[in-house]
Amino acid sequence: LKKRQYIVSVDAGGTKILAALIDSDNKIISRAKKSTDAKNGANAVIKRIIECIESTLIDSKVKANQLAAIVVGIPGSLNSQKGIVYLAPNLSWRNINVVNPIKRHFNIPTFIENDANLGALGIHHFGLGKKYENLLGIFVGTGIGGGLILNNKIYRGKSFAAGEIGHIVINPKGEKCGCGNYGCFEAVASRTAITREIKNAIKTGKKTVVTKLTNNYDLIKSGTLAAALKSNDKIVKKSLRSASETIGLVIGNMSNLLDLNAVVLADGLIEAVGDFMLPVIRKSAEDVALPQNFKGMKILISSLGDDAALYGGIALAKEVGLF
Ligand SMILES: [Zn+2]
Repeated sequence: LKKRQYIVSVDAGGTKILAALIDSDNKIISRAKKSTDAKNGANAVIKRIIECIESTLIDSKVKANQLAAIVVGIPGSLNSQKGIVYLAPNLSWRNINVVNPIKRHFNIPTFIENDANLGALGIHHFGLGKKYENLLGIFVGTGIGGGLILNNKIYRGKSFAAGEIGHIVINPKGEKCGCGNYGCFEAVASRTAITREIKNAIKTGKKTVVTKLTNNYDLIKSGTLAAALKSNDKIVKKSLRSASETIGLVIGNMSNLLDLNAVVLADGLIEAVGDFMLPVIRKSAEDVALPQNFKGMKILISSLGDDAALYGGIALAKEVGLF
């Protein structure tokens, strides 16, 4: 008799919480989504996470005691063994225990993991990364996240903080980053950085179709950038090209250090305008990578969309032997 044949996987991002109830065939049975509303504090976010988990149970008519595990992805540095999030800037969290309240509520083994690590695991086990034993996942959105799979296993480092690719410093004299440093990768090449560059161009009177597509230059959506590309907008092309060159530079360097089998790019921006960015990224990576390291290294766009971290939850539950 198979009793505990489901898990719930949660991706608690800076703007939205996604949850999925998944069966033993790795199929998503039901989903839930809520805005994160991080401004109301950690307890309110944890309550929403619990509500999302409950909603997937109700929709699928699965009882909590049929769950083998609950896995929650968090955008920050954390200790997955202690269940503590040390720092999650997008949630304004510092030293928050996420695991205890969820475990207390459902009485089910509960785990947290960095969201980019979960995304890389998801891509490695269920996406395009299947056959690549050394893989780097790069998530280009509001910030830039990284997850590293080495020898088919997630690489966490000595204090669970490995993979923070967004804070590799590209230009010490560059823009200030959310972490306090200057010229971090994510301060130079995230969607936020691309948006800032376009906004500056508009301010200085440059003509761009973006002004016809949106009024909100503080948060130019990936779809807007895609539409601007279609109308061959020079300003948008220039800033996407510049971000792509930086992404390629980082990939080339990572290839030199790690001799990777594959780099998989993911998240909204890459999915919307990746066809334009990918050739520039490849060329720029090739320019700095050692030929032997670059040869045979794949640079791909993820096929899992928003579900990468949710699928990563399956891999994590399997890793701890519960699923
Ligand atoms: Zn930084």
